[in-house]
Amino acid sequence: MSALLQASGLTKHFDVASGGFLRRSGPVLRAVDGVDLSIEPGETLGLVGESGCGKSTLGRLLIRLLPATSGRVMFDGTDITGLKPKPLRAVRRMMQIIFQDPFGSLNPRMSVEDTVLEPLLIHGARPDAPTRLRVRQMLDRVGLPDGALHRYPHEFSGGQRQRIGIARALILRPRLVVCDEPVSALDVSVQAQIVNLLSDLQSELGLTYLFIAHDLGVVKHISNRVAVMYLGKVVEVGDKRSLYAAPLHPYTQALLASVPITHPSRRKPSRSRDVRLAGDVPTALAPPSGCRFHTRCPHVMPVCRSVEPALTAVGSGHAAACHLLARGLKPSEVIPAG
Ligand code: SF4
Repeated sequence: MSALLQASGLTKHFDVASGGFLRRSGPVLRAVDGVDLSIEPGETLGLVGESGCGKSTLGRLLIRLLPATSGRVMFDGTDITGLKPKPLRAVRRMMQIIFQDPFGSLNPRMSVEDTVLEPLLIHGARPDAPTRLRVRQMLDRVGLPDGALHRYPHEFSGGQRQRIGIARALILRPRLVVCDEPVSALDVSVQAQIVNLLSDLQSELGLTYLFIAHDLGVVKHISNRVAVMYLGKVVEVGDKRSLYAAPLHPYTQALLASVPITHPSRRKPSRSRDVRLAGDVPTALAPPSGCRFHTRCPHVMPVCRSVEPALTAVGSGHAAACHLLARGLKPSEVIPAG
């Protein structure tokens, strides 16, 4: 099967001093730094990592909400990296985004009906009865009552506002949806409802998702594959089952160790769960040399400080960027230093 979306060498650097415009001098924030990634039609790729690792920037680069500094994005066989505004607009209706903050992303002065109607009007629909019926049907499908039509965002709970955001994103019948931390701002009880809704809509509408979250627990139920990001790099990618059962990268092991295990019968002694994250994420303004994780890694070796490890495949579709793998070792089999 050919990928719906394929990114190669995707990079986004921000010149901090000039407020975003890249100049030849001054501090540069390396938000995304040479990412290769593919998303298959109909799958959910989970993208996880700590705050500030570049995952939201990567999500925006993939759907051209942000221009890349370098690299390429192919969507359904078309190179969209340098598309001019008109052809980009035609492609963009196929790629939508659901934001983390459903209140901040909705216009407080627009009724729910106008909020969901707006993308249709932007893409040439007329505000006639069939179009308005389509809006009502979509609101019904995401679980909002008819009475919601003429109300405003502040009149709804966080979960309901996220349903409005989902309706707005899906009204154009996109093929790819970037879900950018869509449940992070919601209560735990509401999170499950929204994840289930997104999952049902994916089956019904044949959607492909990039599901961004900051911990592996949230993406577990909805993802088919998972990519782990650290300081602008993808450090591990693999099928959900193999990544959760046998994480290869020490950073993934540490993220998994931080996922609460609520049921006592599921608490198995496992060396991979011994890895704990120490210290803060270094700044992307001056990322560590070599392996970017070396300042926090319990397995760090001299080579890690000077040579950047490449993504190395270990089994079908499972790869990680760690020098231990290149030496035929798995981090879970190595006793942490100190
Ligand atoms: Fe740790 Fe070295 Fe592997 Fe980086 S390359 S994760 S520092 S062992």
